[in-house]
Amino acid sequence: MNIGIFGGTFNPVHLGHMNCLKSVADQAGLDKIIVIPDRIPPHKQAEDLASAEDRLNMCRLAFEGLKCVEISDWELKQEGKSYSVITLRHLKEVYPHDKLFFIMGSDMLLSFEKWYQYKEILSLAALICVARSQEDVDRIEIKADQLRAEGGEIIIVRTAPFEVSSTQIREMLKKNFDCSCYLSENVVQYIVDKNLYNRGFPSGR
Ligand code: ATP
Repeated sequence: MNIGIFGGTFNPVHLGHMNCLKSVADQAGLDKIIVIPDRIPPHKQAEDLASAEDRLNMCRLAFEGLKCVEISDWELKQEGKSYSVITLRHLKEVYPHDKLFFIMGSDMLLSFEKWYQYKEILSLAALICVARSQEDVDRIEIKADQLRAEGGEIIIVRTAPFEVSSTQIREMLKKNFDCSCYLSENVVQYIVDKNLYNRGFPSGR
């Protein structure tokens, strides 16, 4: 089996994440994709970080239409900060005969050499990258070649970038701007129902 892994804070999960995963699901020939929200140690929890349970639930809602996707709480149950290499070691033990693909946006690929044990990550999984902006399209090609020279397998999935970040959405919500065009309808409803991120949807929602 070809197994994709998509990690992130997903605070909240947005249409950029969904666009990324849909494009990968359509183009990369994966049999399964595991979405893994990461754990932030309690002392680092910012005011605007939704709880692990809420981030998990929002991921379930956002990706419920994608058949090959499953949501994992594995990192949330670990101690301390999440390191991708540790998660990949664990998944390699669970799926010793399968091929792992680590899915990421361009910001992650561009800073990949700063990741803890990045060479081991390259030995455990192929990387699949999606550009987050038009400027990143050429930059990731260059970075992919550099990482290939180090023995990595890097796959670039081409799709029209959907430019948004969770930080931008949280800022908009704080200012009470309507950001429902960046989120799936059911995630908007969840944020309203749970009153997350100091609200931010115009009255009537
Ligand atoms: P924050 O603004 O809080 O840092 P974020 O929007 O960057 O959050 P994360 O949860 O940190 O989102 O990202 C999880 C994964 O999704 C990362 O690999 C990231 O590069 C990717 N990603 C995030 N936004 C997009 C986007 N708009 N297009 C493609 N990939 C994205």
